[in-house]
Amino acid sequence: MKVSDRPVIFFRNDDVRERLDYTLISLTELFLKQQIPLAHAVEPANITPEVVNWLKSLKTDYPRLIDIVQHGYNHNAENPGIKMEFGGSRNYADQYNDILKGKDLMYEYFSEHWSPVFTFPYGTYNSGSLRALSDCGFKILSSKIKFTMKARLKNFLGRSLGKDFIFGKSVNYHPGVRSNYNFSEISVSVNLIRKYTGYETADHYNLQEILYQIEAARKHTSIIGILMHHRFHGNHLDMIQELLTHLRNTGYSFVSFSELMY
Ligand SMILES: [Zn+2]
Repeated sequence: MKVSDRPVIFFRNDDVRERLDYTLISLTELFLKQQIPLAHAVEPANITPEVVNWLKSLKTDYPRLIDIVQHGYNHNAENPGIKMEFGGSRNYADQYNDILKGKDLMYEYFSEHWSPVFTFPYGTYNSGSLRALSDCGFKILSSKIKFTMKARLKNFLGRSLGKDFIFGKSVNYHPGVRSNYNFSEISVSVNLIRKYTGYETADHYNLQEILYQIEAARKHTSIIGILMHHRFHGNHLDMIQELLTHLRNTGYSFVSFSELMY
């Protein structure tokens, strides 16, 4: 897609795990009220029946607005200090097993009502992770992309050479098909959080700063992804509501991963 195309925005909410709490419910309600699609990225090994049932009934009631996608396997939950689940020195077979176990759980919980979209916890991966994802039949990888001059040069070079990594950095193919694999990359480029300060606390960007990130991304892509983590946003729901209203009033349209699958 060319940057001259009408810009569209998608929202991805990571770390849907064991708790059905105020932040998860209230954030979702904001999106439903404004009829804006939201993708919930589920940790298959950590989600509880309570959250599964809530998501299933949401998907039944709002099939176009709610996407359910896979966020790793267990988010390396047993080692919270190590900010990595996939990548590093993990080999293909080991990662394939975890991705497949997660996928099997997703089918068990949601049958056909989830989308074959994968997001890596902490955004870390290696070539073995990508091969495993492709072999498990995922259609979209959603990671992160920056549009700084340095990042654009790295991505341009890496894509031209068909590489997964260049200068030790991952090459982002957003928004397009990854060389050598059977999936596309549709990545997020806007974050609400400046800095994570605790399990549920984080410094947030203000509305102007978030709009600035969106405008900066708009110069380089017509598919702008905004990343959320509901558990941090309990005190920022008013700002998120303002953001959604502002984006709607300024002519952006909103899409789900399902609509971006090609
Ligand atoms: Zn995560």
